[in-house]
Amino acid sequence: MSADDRILDGSKYAAEIREEVAAEVAVLSSRGVVPRLDAVLVGDDPASQVYVGSKARTLAGLGMISETHLLPTTTTQSELEVLIDGLNRDSDVDGILVQLPLPRNVDTAAILRRLDPAKDVDGFHPENVGLLQQGRPALKPCTPAGIMEMLRRAGIAIEGQRAVVVGRSDIVGKPMAIMLLHANATVTVCHSRTRDLAAVTREADILVAAVGARSLIGPDHVTEGAVVVDVGMHRVTDRKTVERLWPDNPKKLAAFDKRGAVLAGDVDFTAVAPKAGCITPVPGGVGPLTIAMLMANTVKAARARRGL
Ligand code: NAP
Repeated sequence: MSADDRILDGSKYAAEIREEVAAEVAVLSSRGVVPRLDAVLVGDDPASQVYVGSKARTLAGLGMISETHLLPTTTTQSELEVLIDGLNRDSDVDGILVQLPLPRNVDTAAILRRLDPAKDVDGFHPENVGLLQQGRPALKPCTPAGIMEMLRRAGIAIEGQRAVVVGRSDIVGKPMAIMLLHANATVTVCHSRTRDLAAVTREADILVAAVGARSLIGPDHVTEGAVVVDVGMHRVTDRKTVERLWPDNPKKLAAFDKRGAVLAGDVDFTAVAPKAGCITPVPGGVGPLTIAMLMANTVKAARARRGL
């Protein structure tokens, strides 16, 4: 198998999902319904601004309406709650996205609880978390939902497989484990206190790394032929590190020289790819799927709210 055959091309599957969403939006629009997503961004974190801007452009490109509420870092809990309450009440708003992290002075859990669960397109409200846990219809967190969509579209069998998820965050690791469990995988969840991580991850037919530690997963963590999904996203801003992570890769170096940074994952791609049955790259793997699923969730919310 060539190296290219091993790549799980998240961008390709994300493009398919976006096309399907655009077709649904066209049908809804012809019935007078244009789905609308409101993003709430508190503070001036440049990465969050880029992320929210990119979501807004994608929404507009698919024929939806996008509004962004930019609030200063000094915004208080009650000011944010007033905004959320208004968006909950506004019948034109189908989805509300609160860009995380929120500033330290804001109680994030309380803000997420305040969202109307029917508009909670990130699937973080306790009601949606509970529904997902029970395997009932819900708005599901975009990153793990996108990974499940990719596995399905790539024809990767999940039932009966041994899946290992590294990371137990509320936004990726835990919902990922639940979704794999509902798809009848035998699931193990690892975290920072897991003993002998490599011994556990080597058991995996499907390995999902959602750790936030660059290149933590190396070839010793992966069994021959495993499906490796890399959720991690790290900006590498040092040329020497780029040369070390991607030796003999002039394309990567050129990208670095052009932009002054490149993205890397939680998996050491260069070392793991030859061993994996298939593997997601970073960038071009899980990231685009997350945004595509946000679009899909916005349409889902728009339909469900109107009983369509
Ligand atoms: P997080 O909230 O920081 O959670 C990280 C998890 O990894 C925790 O459960 C932590 O264990 C575990 N962990 C940390 N170090 C470990 C180690 N050495 N061995 C085993 N487990 C370890 O992170 P997150 O929000 O889930 O995000 C994870 C990564 O995915 C980040 O790089 C983030 O940028 C990226 N991300 C990407 C997308 C995308 O669309 N591509 C979306 C979301 C997140 P404890 O619970 O014990 O602390």
